[in-house]
Amino acid sequence: MPGHRRGVRVRQERGRGVGLVLQDALVSLDPLRTVGAEVAEPLRVHRILPRDRRAAEVVRLLDEVGVPDPGERAAQHPHELSGGLRQRALIASALAARPAVLVADEPTTALDVVVQDQVLRLLGRLRSDGLGLLLISHDLAVVARIADRIAVMHDGRIVEEGPTARILDRPAHPRTRALLAAVPGPMTRGRRLSDRAAARTATPTSAESAAPPRPGGGAAVLACEGVTKVFAGAGHPARTAVRDVSLRLAAGEALGVVGESGSGKSTLAPLAMGLLPPDSGTVTLEGRPWSGLPERARRPRRSAVQLVQQDPLSSFDPRYPVGRVLDEALRAAGERDRSRRRARAAALLAQVDLDGGHLRRRPVELSGGQRQRVAIARALAPRPRVLVCDEPVSALDASVQAQITDLLPHLRGELGLALLFISHDLGVVHHLCDRVVVMRDGAVVEEGPVERVWRAPAHPHTERLLAAVPGLPPGSAAGERPHPAHLPGAT
Ligand code: ADP
Ligand code: MG
Repeated sequence: MPGHRRGVRVRQERGRGVGLVLQDALVSLDPLRTVGAEVAEPLRVHRILPRDRRAAEVVRLLDEVGVPDPGERAAQHPHELSGGLRQRALIASALAARPAVLVADEPTTALDVVVQDQVLRLLGRLRSDGLGLLLISHDLAVVARIADRIAVMHDGRIVEEGPTARILDRPAHPRTRALLAAVPGPMTRGRRLSDRAAARTATPTSAESAAPPRPGGGAAVLACEGVTKVFAGAGHPARTAVRDVSLRLAAGEALGVVGESGSGKSTLAPLAMGLLPPDSGTVTLEGRPWSGLPERARRPRRSAVQLVQQDPLSSFDPRYPVGRVLDEALRAAGERDRSRRRARAAALLAQVDLDGGHLRRRPVELSGGQRQRVAIARALAPRPRVLVCDEPVSALDASVQAQITDLLPHLRGELGLALLFISHDLGVVHHLCDRVVVMRDGAVVEEGPVERVWRAPAHPHTERLLAAVPGLPPGSAAGERPHPAHLPGAT
């Protein structure tokens, strides 16, 4: 009992003194509780407000962090919210106890640029109101926007520390320079981002690494025609996640899908995979109907489209080592011969720059970057023609993100893969894709070649997305790369 009580007291003090916000809101939020109950919890535990005033405070907090329809959202469960809304709910619950210090560990890493911009503004405002902020991030551009001082860590040590302006202008440590260089931006298109010494195997260098931009004119390997998807709500209104979306992906092409969180990007993934039947419209794969097919009809063609998600851990069976994961994928792809499967598993690992030693490790024993490589290797097992990537690098730190980002064009060139690349990160999309589709509220508002859209966005919403990308100040060591908002036509 005393131990229990002490536990409660520690929790209370911690809640009041220091608020904590982690990156992965889905893990941090209780799936069984409503968002409102989650945000109300600190108000109750710390006796900040009597019961009858908590509901109003929850709505105020959700509103403060930019959750639209806060009253309606408070009644929903975490899985019913998009990643961005979940993250904002998490920040609201950390702020509920009015802490003196907020520790934010990659608080905006999973968010689109517009929401990130709002959250950074919010954090900036809270800071000027006297909140202490320890902001942990792989993204120097994010840190540079609000931090007074920056400490750069490497291998568990702080290798450099100083005022923000000095760190950006005159980075002293090689790690700091590597971090500055790893941020993709308009001027890095087609170049390698990861530091070459760190790439272990024979990944091609700059000139060959980027697959040449391909025209979108070839035969469509995957096409959506007027696709609409509505999610019926239990206890809340139905949501049209995707409305009347038409897009075509040519063989070997890389098509980016960008938009704010909640704009319907992720819903496109299961639609493209043929897993989610649209309410209207059609999806075709290699010129033949694909959406709404019964499982039996889909099975023989399923290998053609494979998925890579943000968090591969959730899609791996934790008991199986990597060798077994790949073996099952190869068996499902119809490879009957055991020794051939073994050889291909090793070859797949090599393709993603991992060595055979990884075959025996279980996913939990791998780093985030290694895990994502395994997820890509598994997706490649059935020799797909299309890889659907939903935020594949969003959970990775900048240098690992750069390595995975470098891997994709290489695989594209080598295997003739088409990429449907869903991301809230406009920099990565610009870096990797030939064409881009901009979504808002489930609909496509703009579509075109990446270079053109970046240079001269036609829709105000695209302009807004581009303007919200945090850029390093021009003139900083990495600032020869102009901020997208400073590009002509993007203001
Ligand atoms: P994005 O990936 O752009 O953040 P999503 O496609 O995840 O957007 O979500 C689009 C909208 O659909 C959001 O409003 C979200 O809350 C809703 N939504 C997504 N999946 C579901 C679901 N399984 N049930 C109910 N609503 C959903
Ligand atoms: Mg998403």
